[in-house]
Amino acid sequence: MTDLPLYPLIINGERTEPAAGHYADVINPATGDCIGRAAMGDATDVDRAVAAARGAFEQRQWREMAPAERSKVLYACAHTVMQNAQELIELEIGCSGATLNRAVNLDIPAVADLWMNLAEAVKTYPFVTNQSPRPLPEQWHSQVWKEPVGVCGLITAWNFPLLLFSWKVGPALAAGNTMVLKPSELTPTSSIRLAELLQAVLPPGVLNVVNGDGAAVGDAMTLHPDIDKISFTGSTRVGRIVQTNCASTMKRCTLELGGKGPGVVLPDADLDMVAQGALWAVYMNAGQACESGTRLLVHDSIYEPLLQKLAERSGQVVVGNPADPATGVGPMATETHFKRVMGYIESGIADGARVICGGGPASVPGCEGGFFIQPTVLADVTNEMRVAREEIFGPVLAVIRYSDIDEAIRIANDSDYGLSAGIWTGDLVKAQQVARELRAGSVWVNDWHMMRTDAPFGGYKQSGYGRELGAWSIDSYVETKAVQMSFERNPLRKNGQRIVHTRMGQ
Ligand code: NAD
Repeated sequence: MTDLPLYPLIINGERTEPAAGHYADVINPATGDCIGRAAMGDATDVDRAVAAARGAFEQRQWREMAPAERSKVLYACAHTVMQNAQELIELEIGCSGATLNRAVNLDIPAVADLWMNLAEAVKTYPFVTNQSPRPLPEQWHSQVWKEPVGVCGLITAWNFPLLLFSWKVGPALAAGNTMVLKPSELTPTSSIRLAELLQAVLPPGVLNVVNGDGAAVGDAMTLHPDIDKISFTGSTRVGRIVQTNCASTMKRCTLELGGKGPGVVLPDADLDMVAQGALWAVYMNAGQACESGTRLLVHDSIYEPLLQKLAERSGQVVVGNPADPATGVGPMATETHFKRVMGYIESGIADGARVICGGGPASVPGCEGGFFIQPTVLADVTNEMRVAREEIFGPVLAVIRYSDIDEAIRIANDSDYGLSAGIWTGDLVKAQQVARELRAGSVWVNDWHMMRTDAPFGGYKQSGYGRELGAWSIDSYVETKAVQMSFERNPLRKNGQRIVHTRMGQ
């Protein structure tokens, strides 16, 4: 136990012990083994981290750095990720159960790409905009300035620790803010390590990390009087608490929450393409992705043939140790979550769904302590069932039958969520028309999870608000100031003032 690596807090550029001295085990979900111990902060630690962030903000070095200089630092962040990719990949797999395939081919390239995109975007971001002059005799000119919000509190979920870290820290930095990050207490190691590595290129106090649970650290952050903005990624349930807490000090708040993505399969779709794509949509990261395609809406005319193809292909997906390059589906992130997902499968069956493949725990040789579930397809689901309404966050596809396109659109939109949606068809005109009807922040045609780091991502409805990725994400971390300058010194000629000083100049 004593040889396990320790992951402390990062405050003011230093590895810092938590005030109360508490550490918690970090568990590898593929084996159940403890892989390290992470500091568990509390409100005192949040105060210390906020003070460091406020000090760095007031010190002005970061917020007043010219965008071209800040761009170089953001490039250095991207290089730091790439130079330390191997270590970060191992940490990501160890703490979150990410597959090697995902960490190597998705996480690290996307994280580095995002930092580089931000490094470019910051050079041309409209930090100052001149408004068009009005016709003479104009006495004043107007500019719009975009200024950093101040001290940002960033709270992330456990499913993609490095990506979510970068989606928040990157744009907050690009805008000139200082910040306190709280990673998920379930998967903190890769985030703490990346923050530690980035200290080499950032001024002290700009990026601070306080790991800990929601009740101790999350509440302290969202209620903190000296945090100006919260950016939160997590469940809609906790998002509601965060939004309520932010209201107490009128903090700015953006929320990236859950989803229940519907994929609409039109009768003309290529069924082989759909079978493979719809399973990729739901099984990526073992279904633990907010924008997964978890409801598949299938037209009567192709319903049974598509189910057959889904069952065949689902049975070929390799469930295994995430560190094995052949693995397609890894474990659930925790034992509690494993039980929750199994509970959903049972509720679907009890409600009348038909299991066409999977449906139970999976055993993986060498990972007997892990939390694996068989990739599962439930057919004959209705949109009223819990498995169609609630976010399962596991490798479980709910297949729903429809008879005409209006019905499909109604079912797709009949959800509290609105994060992602998809359309499977060979008719791109039809796809455009259906895309217009779908109430979701991302709509994909004939694929899923297509996310460019320079395109906006975020939710409609109870999937949250605000957009991450690309230059759009910088917008969430700035205040907007209108600056209007008078170019008239003679008080008698200041037109507006005549409203009060009616006798001036007569
Ligand atoms: P969660 O809501 O349980 O926790 C998210 C974070 O909030 C964690 O860091 C947690 O410690 C913290 N937290 C808990 N209570 C808090 C409180 N009272 N105040 C402040 N913070 C608190 O979510 P999770 O289980 O970690 O992640 C899964 C959820 O995240 C899913 O619903 C998924 O859809 C969502 N998610 C959304 C996106 C997106 O971009 N929309 C991305 C990833 C995950």
